Amino acid sequence: MATMLIGDQTVAARSGTQLEIIDPATEEPIDTVPDAGAEDVDLAVQEARRAFPEWSRRDAEERASIVRDGLRSIREHADEIADTLVHEQGKPTIEARGELNHFLHGMEFYADLASKIRGSYQDLPSALGPSYGLTTRRPLGVVGAIVPYNYPLTLMGTKLGPALITGNTIVVKPADTTPLATLKVAQYLLEAGVPPGVLNVVTGRGAGAGEALVAHPDVRRIAFTGSTATGRRIIEVAGPLFKRVTLELGGSDPVIVCPDADLDKAAKSVLIGRFWNAGQSCLAIKRAYVFSEIYEEFLDRIVAGAERYEPGPGWTKAEKPKIRIGPLNTKAQRDKVQDQLERSLEQSGKVLLGGTTENDNGFFFPATIVTEAGHDSPLVSEEVFGPVLPVFRVDTIDQAIELANSSPYGLGSSVWTNDVRLINKASREIEAGMTWVNQIHFGYDELPFGGTKQSGIGKEHGAEALDDYTDLKSVVVGGL
Ligand code: NAD
Repeated sequence: MATMLIGDQTVAARSGTQLEIIDPATEEPIDTVPDAGAEDVDLAVQEARRAFPEWSRRDAEERASIVRDGLRSIREHADEIADTLVHEQGKPTIEARGELNHFLHGMEFYADLASKIRGSYQDLPSALGPSYGLTTRRPLGVVGAIVPYNYPLTLMGTKLGPALITGNTIVVKPADTTPLATLKVAQYLLEAGVPPGVLNVVTGRGAGAGEALVAHPDVRRIAFTGSTATGRRIIEVAGPLFKRVTLELGGSDPVIVCPDADLDKAAKSVLIGRFWNAGQSCLAIKRAYVFSEIYEEFLDRIVAGAERYEPGPGWTKAEKPKIRIGPLNTKAQRDKVQDQLERSLEQSGKVLLGGTTENDNGFFFPATIVTEAGHDSPLVSEEVFGPVLPVFRVDTIDQAIELANSSPYGLGSSVWTNDVRLINKASREIEAGMTWVNQIHFGYDELPFGGTKQSGIGKEHGAEALDDYTDLKSVVVGGL
């Protein structure tokens, strides 16, 4: 049985209850973790509170240096961590290694920023005597980080990096189904010198451990990534307590492919954008709008590309020219994707590829491409968190943007064209937190990342994220 990390202890839940972790490729249990309750969360928060004064007073470069020592150790254990991720999450080994590398890169980005956080200086009006003013940034205290199952490590890193280097302490709650790689990474950070209590991991269910963390009066900030429905619940619980909350929620990213696009590159990026991580990415391409002039040609390319995806366990390689696509993380998620597709097809639509699973063991779903679906169908109005791509024909950029915007979500988006007027129009008018131009959807560590509309509130990544981990304080120095 895996254990939680609270202070300097590896512990079970007080209640003794456990959650089984299932390998989604085999449906076999691979481990159990404690199913923490409010009591366990309270213990973790108290440890984090106890560790805060000392950690926050440390020199910023020393904090960064400790984090870097931890990252070195994680890199040395990369194979073991990636393998754990493959078995609990389902993703292919190459994607698990990619996720771990992204985690390391993001953490290093923040370690480099540790000593560069600045306030400001202002000479003040002299009516009350000579004085000057400063703004400084102070850490908040205990941060609660709640992480989803699709990228357990990178999405922990986007919270852990800024929290630790600004001098906060943290309690991490990984997703119910993917806590194992997280526990390993946290253990290596602690062994490398992150002091006990600075980083704690509680495992268990969202409605139990997760909600207890959000409701805990000593947690100053909640950094949440997950579904829009859970985000709504987090606001309800955290709102009356006036906590600092950032919500990175669901998305239904559109891509617009214009007549002058480089079709090879666009098709390749759309395929990766939709089928990476078996379609379980917040910033996956979930709707394609293709201009009539190139519609048939583009469709041929993406259908040919999608035919190469071969479902199978993430630790096995597909034989070339096939590409491995792993299972969805849970049976519930696989069934939901199937249901969304079926409800859409009841209205209209043609399945060009995929559509139903052929595997009777494991939560697999094949790469699926649909045309002529209704634009009010679940494939458009809901977030489809699996490998299904609806493709729509458009005739003008205005029509494409209007359809792109007719979604409750506004996370990412992309446009493929070399026409500067179309680039300008799309990047200004698409309602989304990000627009990539002639580029795959990718969360850069250096740039703020976050959605608009029902895709969330606040930003992660970039130096901008540090604002949410610090209080801005004004100091006036008089009597000079
Ligand atoms: P989820 O909302 O079901 O769970 C996310 C986390 O919240 C888990 O740790 C879960 O245990 C916890 N949780 C559940 N109920 C809770 C509650 N009442 N109180 C506190 N915590 C609770 O999401 P998921 O299914 O694990 O992840 C997929 C979703 O995450 C998708 O919608 C995806 O788009 C979104 N996502 C968004 C981003 C982004 O940056 N915008 C990134 C990745 C994933």
